[in-house]
Amino acid sequence: MRRSNLALVLRHVRDAGPRSRARIAVETGLNRGTVSSLVSELIDRGLVREGPVERGGSVGRPGQAVELDGRNIGGIGVEINVDYVTAIVLDLANTPVFEHRVALDVQALPPDAVLDAVTELAIKALSDCDERQITPVGLTLAIPALVERADGVVAFAPNLHWTQVEAVEGLRHRLSRPGPGVWGSPPRRQLPIQVDNDANLAALGEFAMGSRAGTQHLVYLTGETGVGGGVMVDGQLLRGAEGFSGEIGHMPLNPGGHLCGCGRRGCWETMVGLAALLRMAAAEDDPVRDPSLDLERRLAMVRDRADRGEPRTLDALKLVGEALGLGASILVNVFNPRVLVLGGYFASLGGYLLDPMLAELHARVIAPDACQVVLSTLGFTAAARGGAHVALEAVLDDPTLVPIRHT
Ligand SMILES: [Zn+2]
Repeated sequence: MRRSNLALVLRHVRDAGPRSRARIAVETGLNRGTVSSLVSELIDRGLVREGPVERGGSVGRPGQAVELDGRNIGGIGVEINVDYVTAIVLDLANTPVFEHRVALDVQALPPDAVLDAVTELAIKALSDCDERQITPVGLTLAIPALVERADGVVAFAPNLHWTQVEAVEGLRHRLSRPGPGVWGSPPRRQLPIQVDNDANLAALGEFAMGSRAGTQHLVYLTGETGVGGGVMVDGQLLRGAEGFSGEIGHMPLNPGGHLCGCGRRGCWETMVGLAALLRMAAAEDDPVRDPSLDLERRLAMVRDRADRGEPRTLDALKLVGEALGLGASILVNVFNPRVLVLGGYFASLGGYLLDPMLAELHARVIAPDACQVVLSTLGFTAAARGGAHVALEAVLDDPTLVPIRHT
């Protein structure tokens, strides 16, 4: 009972913002004495702190506001993508405290070698937490794949060439091996680990901390080697019967077209994925098509060529923008989102993709003015941030996971 009331108060302060104990009592329906005691315990656990004095509220006398703290805990998000692995640690207020990306040609490596690299990155993140006296509360793996979340299994990741990989168990096993560092942390084998689709996590990240956070009807589209999507309806992620919804990259928009990583022909991804853009924009031996180079560096080269008016690059960007609008018009007609967020490379090259895309959207969407298209401000970190955010949910469900501080 007390645990669920602690959770209720903590979540309320996070979602509704700083407010007095009196106001928390009114808004949660708990009595004032109970709220005071719960807040004291949350302060002892470092999850909330005393904030500014609140004046002019509708409830009672001015009171000292209580605000979110949680600088002492960290959620870890690790993304595996075709060209890189990246890790990010967020504190309870979603502030990044650690961020690291490694260029990795994941397609060329067996899953075991990729999980070794992920483990190394996770240990780096855990050691960093340890140095900063941050308690890690969970880790979420973000993967461009159909994921069986309950079993922690990657069922099928067409662009990584993974089938039935036990990702969670593989990572847990590696992290529990004795190794250097992480002395003060709880044993690594106890760290809760989960796995989810990268675009779903990115959509949750946008919903929690993007430029249009809190938008109840939001469609997130990400362009990397694959093209993924996450759909928020009434503030909830749409998962579908098996949890496999959002596979929008495989909408068959050009039947008979190029071969897709999924084995079919003419999927949307073969028209607007990163490989499609680079195929149209550059010759095969061009460095922008070299996966061992950092992705953002390659995209900066493409942007630079476009800025200089290089015709092949500009033509490629226009074609991709139009094809992006074609597929997006289906999503906007089906889901009627308030906001469509473009992530991944769609955001990095948005300046060139947006005009042809919007022209296509306006021509094809029944009610185009109801939806605003924005470029993600989270860039390539959206999925890892979403993963870290989801890992922190454990504390919002059970604040007693964080020990009382003895200072
Ligand atoms: Zn496909």
